[in-house]
Amino acid sequence: MLIPSLLVFFLGASIGSFLNVVIYRLPAGISLLHPPSRCPKCQRRLRFYDNVPVLGWLWLQGRCRFCKRPIAIRYPLVELLTGVLFLSSFWHFGWSELTLSAWILLSWLVALSFIDIDTLTLPESLTRSGLILGLAFSALWAYLTAAEMAATAALNAFIGSALGAVLGLWLFNGISIAGAALLGQTAMGWGDSKLAALLGAWLGWAGLLLSTFLACLLGATVGGSAIALGLLSRRQPMPFGPFLAASGAIALFWGDRLIAAYLQIFFPLGWG
Ligand SMILES: [Zn+2]
Repeated sequence: MLIPSLLVFFLGASIGSFLNVVIYRLPAGISLLHPPSRCPKCQRRLRFYDNVPVLGWLWLQGRCRFCKRPIAIRYPLVELLTGVLFLSSFWHFGWSELTLSAWILLSWLVALSFIDIDTLTLPESLTRSGLILGLAFSALWAYLTAAEMAATAALNAFIGSALGAVLGLWLFNGISIAGAALLGQTAMGWGDSKLAALLGAWLGWAGLLLSTFLACLLGATVGGSAIALGLLSRRQPMPFGPFLAASGAIALFWGDRLIAAYLQIFFPLGWG
């Protein structure tokens, strides 16, 4: 298990390295593939061995090889995070198609979260492509499992995913419109509703509701603490995407258990 785990971590960290490029270039409208990675300060091209995820930053001691100016610690942290998420998916789902779909979903969530932190927007190109991939994977999953379980069960799984996507849009647009009417300010951006639709497509309607609930809980806790500590003013906009993405990841790994525990508490006789 050690060698596959190391390879999976390295794959994840390498994808994380590419996600850094996406996070940096996509909002700026720069091509993702050209030019190759370069120092954002002096524009010199990185040596390929300095580009090794996490390690490259460590052996350069966080400084550009040429101009010696510091390289943000966020770059290796995004690589580390993606590596850990890939490894967790592999340990959780094992050698199955679910691992692959978790890798895709989590990559989209990492890119969207950091872009939202930087720019307070969730690019439509990412939310839309993630949504389409989610529906495609659910359809593929339904097709692959149709042989094992009843065809209706497989179809239900796909319909659950499509319903999740639609529910995500409605729920968040509803919250936006209600927020605008009640508070006179937009409580949530339109990007958030598209991210919710993406989560619905991947996690189904139940996973989406769980993610939304957790995201509000997380957002209120973190936002409230930040305001109480004076780190954030009440009027300052806070990106909601990262909370939604983190909650989506929690729902991906522990959704079934959390939902089962919830039903056990509130509906001890039925439903389970
Ligand atoms: Zn440099």
